[in-house]
Amino acid sequence: MQFEDLKIIEPVLRALKRQKYTKPTSIQEKAIPLILERKDVLGSAQTGTGKTAAFAIPILQHLYLDRQQNNSPRKVNALVITPTRELAIQIADSFTAYGKFTGIKNTVVFGGVNQNAQTTALGKGVDVLVATPGRLLDLIEQGFIRLNDVEYFVLDEADRMLDMGFIHDIRKIIAQLPAKRQSLFFSATMPKNIVELSKKILINPVKVEVSPVSSTAETIQQYLYYTNRTNKKDLLLHILKDHNIDQMLLFSRTKHGADRIVHTLKRKKIKSAAIHGDKAQNSRQQALAQFKAREIRVLAATDIAARGIDIDKLKYVINYDIPNTAETYVHRIGRSGRAGEDGIAISICEPEENGYVKAIEKLINQRIERVSDNPFPQTDKPMNEAEKKEWDKEKQRRKQEFFANRKQKAGSARAHRHSH
Ligand code: ADP
Ligand code: MG
Repeated sequence: MQFEDLKIIEPVLRALKRQKYTKPTSIQEKAIPLILERKDVLGSAQTGTGKTAAFAIPILQHLYLDRQQNNSPRKVNALVITPTRELAIQIADSFTAYGKFTGIKNTVVFGGVNQNAQTTALGKGVDVLVATPGRLLDLIEQGFIRLNDVEYFVLDEADRMLDMGFIHDIRKIIAQLPAKRQSLFFSATMPKNIVELSKKILINPVKVEVSPVSSTAETIQQYLYYTNRTNKKDLLLHILKDHNIDQMLLFSRTKHGADRIVHTLKRKKIKSAAIHGDKAQNSRQQALAQFKAREIRVLAATDIAARGIDIDKLKYVINYDIPNTAETYVHRIGRSGRAGEDGIAISICEPEENGYVKAIEKLINQRIERVSDNPFPQTDKPMNEAEKKEWDKEKQRRKQEFFANRKQKAGSARAHRHSH
């Protein structure tokens, strides 16, 4: 996904290039189209995921297009409320950066400093006002700011705003906004009080959520086994000898892989089931229900099938394959250790995946603990390009052989039946 795909206008695209933003973050990808459609949005994503641009870009675009229609004197058409002075400055800087080629003007007001510079800036006319609540109300009362022309309203860092006791100020501000407006709520977390407040402010909001990336990693104990490709099953069985592991979610890169693992485990009398895209919905639901009821010990899942799975008090997650994108690793291990419980994530790494581990450690900014008590250590070297090609060919050949055999067997079975 590129910014171009989000129907962003050229002057903003140019500014984003200048910022060296190559592609939108998840929250941007989800929220920008909705905001451009003038929907009210309730967005949650962790700190550092680019929420500012998620609202600033579409607002700049609205304002730019509005001004092309009607180039009247500037009024405060967009208002962004945020709890602290630092955040207010950052947000205003972002509007300046992303709006560099749009001609849209912004300013920022916050308390704790003399107001003269702020009122002077306001006097020159602005389209976007970024403010902390107290100073905003103060300047409204003194007659420096009117909110009658606000068409776009953003409450940023809503959770912190409530934690800091701004609820009354927020109510007062909202009472002064025109009823007809687009409202956007952004928050790192979505506790009940935020949802309640949002119901009073937003109209038919679309909820946009991005599960936290990289933070969950800190609360989960992570272990890594380096092994050879051919030893992965044996190593898994070795790990499962630990009877503390009573319930384990296992991730496999492929559907076929998940099925094969379940096959192996069942032969060893380890209760398990697979869920992936080729399984019927009811069999997936059944497997999940059995797993939740602890009737099966291992649930083997592909990433797609595991999306949105929330298992209460799940402690163990195992990566039977190392995911090739680091974010996926964080999502996977984030299935454990929910709601303050402790989680343990174990990863099995074959030579071809060694590079992925490096990328993951870079993203989570920590080193995953290597398990030295490992009866199947990695001794093979990762393949070079030529060997990889050779191996791909070999896999293809085996696949063909497998299907040819199956056909043959099916054929002889048919012949057998007919002979009776
Ligand atoms: P949040 O509001 O979620 O805390 P911010 O909007 O402050 O996140 O953005 C965090 C950082 O990410 C900022 O330094 C910002 O410049 C950068 N950023 C935002 N969007 C992108 C993007 N699409 N590509 C690269 N960097 C980005
Ligand atoms: Mg923010």
